[in-house]
Amino acid sequence: MDSHELFKECQKLIPGGVNSPVRAFRGVGGEPFFTRRAEGSRLITCDGRELIDFVCTWGPALFGHDNPRIRAAVASALNAGTSFGTPCEAELEMARLINSMIPCAEMVRMTNSGTEATMSAIRLARGYTGRDRIVKFSGCYHGHVDSLLVKAGSGALTFGNPDSAGIPRALAELTSVLEFNNFDEVSEYFDKYGDQSACVILEPYPANVGLIPPLPGFLQHLRNLCTKHGALLIFDEVISGFRVAAGGAQARERVLPDLCALGKIIGGGLPVGAFCGRREIMRHLAPLGPVYQAGTLSGNPLAMAAGVAALKMILETNPYAELERKSKIMVESINDAAKKSGVPVWVPTAASLFSIFFNENPVRNYADALKSDTSRYAKFFSMCLSDGVYFAPSAFEICFMSTSHTESDLSKAAEVASRAISKL
Ligand SMILES: *Cc1c(COP(=O)(O)O)cnc(C)c1O
Repeated sequence: MDSHELFKECQKLIPGGVNSPVRAFRGVGGEPFFTRRAEGSRLITCDGRELIDFVCTWGPALFGHDNPRIRAAVASALNAGTSFGTPCEAELEMARLINSMIPCAEMVRMTNSGTEATMSAIRLARGYTGRDRIVKFSGCYHGHVDSLLVKAGSGALTFGNPDSAGIPRALAELTSVLEFNNFDEVSEYFDKYGDQSACVILEPYPANVGLIPPLPGFLQHLRNLCTKHGALLIFDEVISGFRVAAGGAQARERVLPDLCALGKIIGGGLPVGAFCGRREIMRHLAPLGPVYQAGTLSGNPLAMAAGVAALKMILETNPYAELERKSKIMVESINDAAKKSGVPVWVPTAASLFSIFFNENPVRNYADALKSDTSRYAKFFSMCLSDGVYFAPSAFEICFMSTSHTESDLSKAAEVASRAISKL
């Protein structure tokens, strides 16, 4: 079956034909392609097309698809069985690596997804502080956790509204949604509610409405307010964790959170998540403490083997300068083409991440991001895809660079992107 037929069949059995909504291409129109195989920087579709991939399975493929070392690690783990339901050695290896790489990680608990990691970190923050109220930022995505799928109420500092059907209003009302990079609004919130708040959770480098780097001092401002009011600072580094530096955004920005959620890359392409943080807080988790959290497949030996291989490669090769250089090649060619054609763009980048906003102005927060021209992005996306380059299938998703993108991949992709921009 080709992609079109597969999608038709899937839609009969799977809501929308996909197991995660953004895969349906609703943000850019058209139908999704199905992938048969992936290798290095390439996806090979069920239609026999070969695409240069800048989605990298939404982050995990830092070393490209089907990396030989990760595959060998999984194959070797597979020989010993797929799941034990008891502790295994690979969990220790993973915990040691995270402990040595992520500055705040005195202790670690593995989960099966990033969603579980943020959900559990929030529960732990509430259990530890004995407070119910939490703070998030508009535009930050933390998985599909009830308390975190909340949008801002009308006006700053009001209570949150559910952002999805099925979330009790009473729960959403415990979540306040503030504007990223807005120093004053955060101060004002803490003056009113700081002492009732369990935690502030954020992506230190928001990367789920396009990329929005923090303004200088913003993360430290949050750190100071949390410390002053006894609230925990939680960094959701599910994307930024091993994508902007080996120690995540917390190392790059030198701001230490109390807890941190991880995912994506630490599974090396297998399903995984983790949360980590200060020992004194992590000791409140079951079986040591009263905060319950569990997982039948948590610390799964195959996922640990893949993740350990990926983290070791990071330590051995420190690929971030090289990734940053490659991202800049894409960013510069997109900027140049846009300038020539008089198309307004904002193309932020951080190490292995970049994103393309068709926007008149710099994007500093969610409201700015929403002013982007999404139909222009959709046209850009479709032209690039038909020329063999797969950028994120939504104006509000970011692009990911891998170590396996070659110079010729990049020059081809830059040429395709530039040509598409000239036709917008
Ligand atoms: C992807 C993502 C999650 C959710 O992780 P899943 O493994 O999809 O549950 C949480 N936070 C951030 C920042 C993410 O990008």
